[in-house]
Amino acid sequence: MLWKSRKPRRLTLVVITEANSPVRRVRIPRPVLWVTPALIAAAVVGSGLSYVKTTDQLRQQMTVEREQFQHASESKDETIDLLQSEMASITEEADRIRDKLEELRHLEEEVKRLSNVKPEAAAAPPAASSRGGESHELSGDRLVEAASETHNSLVDMHRQMEDLSDKLAMVKSALEEQQRIEQLTPSIWPASSRKVTSGYGFRSDPFTFSPSFHSGLDIDGNTGDSVLASAAGIVLETGWDALHGNYIKLEHTRGLRTIYMHLSAILIEKGDEVTKGMKIGKIGSTGRSTGSHLHYEVEKDGQSVDPRKYLPR
Ligand SMILES: [Zn+2]
Repeated sequence: MLWKSRKPRRLTLVVITEANSPVRRVRIPRPVLWVTPALIAAAVVGSGLSYVKTTDQLRQQMTVEREQFQHASESKDETIDLLQSEMASITEEADRIRDKLEELRHLEEEVKRLSNVKPEAAAAPPAASSRGGESHELSGDRLVEAASETHNSLVDMHRQMEDLSDKLAMVKSALEEQQRIEQLTPSIWPASSRKVTSGYGFRSDPFTFSPSFHSGLDIDGNTGDSVLASAAGIVLETGWDALHGNYIKLEHTRGLRTIYMHLSAILIEKGDEVTKGMKIGKIGSTGRSTGSHLHYEVEKDGQSVDPRKYLPR
């Protein structure tokens, strides 16, 4: 293909298709020659502008999408962080509850032991509730909410157990005090014999046969038989005099004292601590006595009372 200029007003385009085929001439008016490149150029510029515009739009769209993705990703990270922190709190709370439960179990055993409650057949721990059916995947927000609710209920359970623990501790200390008082209160026979030869109250004196007041119980017994402390306490006094013979006076609690007279032997000393049922002396017939027996007296706030009130029925 080549350009041939014949006249200044137009151009002839010679087209040779094959070597032996005839040559074709196409005459092109000159103005067309000028307009065509301009049209082509305009088309190129136009499509170029359109291309630039489309590219900008795409770029903007991508930026928006990238930002949205970043935001979603950050939000996911925050959710995961929140969940992790919630889970850590729940685990911590569960551990505290487990410890507290263990403590309560020990306390329960202690209370049972103190109150002589026979331990029940070991109760099986409640079976884990069976779960079935399809599970629903929770959204991130709902998951955080659920974890937070669980945590709150665990905190509440822990608070309730603290209350229960405090109450049990109070019951335990009340029971311990009760047990202490029981130990310090006369409640057992001071000798193995249960035979009372002379009761508490007015009687005729065994020596003078005149009416007199007998301030204790005379309990039958052989010389050398054990005399037992009827309650725990402190030895207030031991001694001998012509009336009481060898005697022991014990101090207990709430103004209570017990006195043991006519002993053949004293096995403790003033100031000693004694326990309930402890052997403190031996039956005899010392002092103003007609035969071997134990004279047993109980005093309340300095006044003798009927010892039978402090003996088992
Ligand atoms: Zn007597």
